Amino acid sequence: MEKAAFPVPPGGIIGIFGGGQLGRMAAMAAARLGYRCHIFTPDTDSPAAQVAMTTTVASYDDIDALRAFSAKVDVATFEFENIPIESLRVVAEQIPVRPSWKILKVAQDRVREKTFFNTIGLRTAPWRRVVDQETLAQAVAEVGRPAILKTARFGYDGKGQIRIDASTPLEDVWHRINTEVGVVEAVVDFTRELSVIVARGVDGAWAAFEPAENRHKNSVLQMSQVPARIHSRMAVSAVEAGRHAAEVLDVVGILAVEIFVTREGQLLMNEMAPRPHNSGHWTLDACVTDQFEQFIRAVCGLPLGSPARYCDAEMLNLLGEEVVRWRDILKNPFARLHLYGKDDARPGRKMGHVTHLKPRTGKLSRDIEQC
Ligand code: AMP
Repeated sequence: MEKAAFPVPPGGIIGIFGGGQLGRMAAMAAARLGYRCHIFTPDTDSPAAQVAMTTTVASYDDIDALRAFSAKVDVATFEFENIPIESLRVVAEQIPVRPSWKILKVAQDRVREKTFFNTIGLRTAPWRRVVDQETLAQAVAEVGRPAILKTARFGYDGKGQIRIDASTPLEDVWHRINTEVGVVEAVVDFTRELSVIVARGVDGAWAAFEPAENRHKNSVLQMSQVPARIHSRMAVSAVEAGRHAAEVLDVVGILAVEIFVTREGQLLMNEMAPRPHNSGHWTLDACVTDQFEQFIRAVCGLPLGSPARYCDAEMLNLLGEEVVRWRDILKNPFARLHLYGKDDARPGRKMGHVTHLKPRTGKLSRDIEQC
């Protein structure tokens, strides 16, 4: 049973599962609207805890901690995908959880996710479910080489993935992936990678940011730029795919969909995330309403804002030691720096990001700048 009647008005308490940078930026957006956030995370001194009102540091399956948390917040959401579904169900007995755990269940598992896309008429790269060496061999024979074997669950930023090239021995690959269930998918010879972020409210109203064009390095997002270098018809089709998925899932919150553009101009869905997304960080500085505020508005049952963009923008992730560039970045007056409060700059760790804005300045602001 839902404890709070919607909307949760400003002054209310939003519970967020996960203490990473997405939770941090969501809590900052929530604070701007007068909300307080309570973070639930197993980690001490998490980036989100640094800016939130309260933090419960407990394991995601600590039932007593989950019940105590539910009693203290008006609505709950998540910024991290690998929360046990059972835990969200426990919380949902006491308060609204937005988006529903049912959506997370689809997004957590590549087999369910790809089946979902295909069932609602969205294309993916050819793929097969695999459970052992025999089904792997069969799958590779069917989708062809090069292919990628991915764990069905718990993969992110390219972890849990092995590429299968012309001569890769399959016995070795199955042994190394160390999973019960995996998917094999054909390697897509894409020309671009896009992502679409759709916000959807309790009343079914939706607003999408225009597609971003993304570049990855070693499977980790390196850069997102808007506008994407695609035809407006393709941008409309990409947004339509994201909206369609969000509607069928009945998302309340944010849904991010990652898309490959093939040489033939087809859109193939890669994966989705029912939460704010790294490829939407540019919206913080370039849009009327950013993805984190849309997220908070949707979760609390408020009207959505406009996703319109003021100017062109390019977002770069600052990974590991790249964070030391902050001094140089700040010398550029059109760079907006966001640091996540992490101490340990381990290789590849997302320490912050910078968005380079490219506004078309008017005559008055040019005159003032030259003063
Ligand atoms: P994922 O964890 O599935 O989002 O994969 C991370 C990145 O690896 C993607 O954004 C792509 O750059 C690359 N990748 C994943 N799957 C494929 C594929 N089937 N074909 C080509 N590149 C892929």
